[in-house]
Amino acid sequence: MLSASPDDALAPAWLEIPADPNGLAPGVWPASARRDADGELELGGVGVAELRARFGTPLYVLDEAEVRAHAARIRSAFHDAAAAHGTKARVYYAGKAFLSTEVARWVTQEGLRVDVCSGGELEIALAAGVKPSRIGFHGNNKSVAELERAVAVGVGTIILDSAIEIERLGAIAERRGAVQRVLLRVNSGVHAETHDFLATAHEDQKFGTPLEAAPALVERIREIPSLKLRGLHCHIGSQIFGSRGFAESASRMIELHAALREGGELPMLNLGGGFGIAYTSADDPTPIEELADSIVDAVARECEVRGIPIPILAFEPGRAVVGQAGVTLYEVGTTKEVSLGDRGERLYVSVDGGMSDNARPALYGSQYSARIASREGTGAPVLARVVGSHCESGDVVVDHEYLPSDVTPGDLLAVPATGAYCHALSSNYNHTPRPAVVAVRDGQARVIVRGETLADLLSRDAGIAAPGTSERTGARTGEGEA
Ligand SMILES: *Cc1c(COP(=O)(O)O)cnc(C)c1O
Repeated sequence: MLSASPDDALAPAWLEIPADPNGLAPGVWPASARRDADGELELGGVGVAELRARFGTPLYVLDEAEVRAHAARIRSAFHDAAAAHGTKARVYYAGKAFLSTEVARWVTQEGLRVDVCSGGELEIALAAGVKPSRIGFHGNNKSVAELERAVAVGVGTIILDSAIEIERLGAIAERRGAVQRVLLRVNSGVHAETHDFLATAHEDQKFGTPLEAAPALVERIREIPSLKLRGLHCHIGSQIFGSRGFAESASRMIELHAALREGGELPMLNLGGGFGIAYTSADDPTPIEELADSIVDAVARECEVRGIPIPILAFEPGRAVVGQAGVTLYEVGTTKEVSLGDRGERLYVSVDGGMSDNARPALYGSQYSARIASREGTGAPVLARVVGSHCESGDVVVDHEYLPSDVTPGDLLAVPATGAYCHALSSNYNHTPRPAVVAVRDGQARVIVRGETLADLLSRDAGIAAPGTSERTGARTGEGEA
């Protein structure tokens, strides 16, 4: 039997042996997460056994009240911070974190606007009834068809990303007799990642335009009658904890903003998203109110120095709205103790999902946490690695976690903080159907995104007869084939 020892050489320094290996760390789990008298996990008032029985596993569970609470809190934080300096804030939900019509409705009902970055996301937002004027459209290579559609439906703001796109969108809007409101995306040269930020003069990346190239592009936009320039945009990264990177970027952007005001009105400044969340209890993100205050303070200081009014500020949180509201449920299939000699032992816990439903550990080396959900474990905490069922050794769900040593096949395992960029990045790797997304609220559960079935997957294979027909769609019929 494995057991945890304080000098476990395999455990990373940040991972503490939990006092209670069944505990639900606040700030990582949704506020509604609790265990009932028998130790079974409940989310939004719904027990995980009921969720398994009705919807199967793996299953994405999204706590509606939690999404709404984060949306409302973030909106208030930026509105209050802006109001304290006599300006306004607009908060866009970055839909790429997780977009379905239900989620679009929740966040817009809480006062948020919606950002999309593809034609598909745009259609979901429109299908949800989001007012086109409250949609922002991003992307470094929006297609002509996407731009045509955006202009046709009256998308409020298109964020221009290149000189070519300025001409392309100008022509489309002109042909349609429209005047399209736009922002220009600029690289502030500040690139922030989690605990630190890098400030460079030149950013080597595909998005936006370098600071020094912006004036010429702004001048060009202003020459085109079918485009109406509203301001500048920048986004410095994702999963950022401190406010220093944002503040540094904001002051660089204000310098440019102030210079460009001399050539015409520039009422807005969009400072993007990237606000970090806690994936494990070792993460300690800055409260959003503090972040909002320090970012808006930095903007206000720079504006005062330059003697210009503070623009209307826009922000684009994605992860911070939905991340903590999501919990993924898996069923444990096998467990395996692997001895690494002097270095210790690790318990491999295989679940019925993996990198197809959560690509982030494989893609970014992201850390998560996990708990037995169907009951409370009784064993001492042991160092475990939760892995998926895919044919890939990098198919890790939770790299390092202490789980009760009695974790066993048939247990439900819950991984919190999976609301953002999990379903959104999911795949059919190994011909795995993507799981359903179920919303929970006030003791009720309902499907908001249908899970795929094997029939869905087979239906895309052109060599298989569609049900009710004898034809193999697209099948080759050439002579000489066996
Ligand atoms: C991804 C993205 C966001 C959202 O980032 P989060 O880390 O989810 O807050 C906002 N704005 C732009 C332009 C993005 O590309």
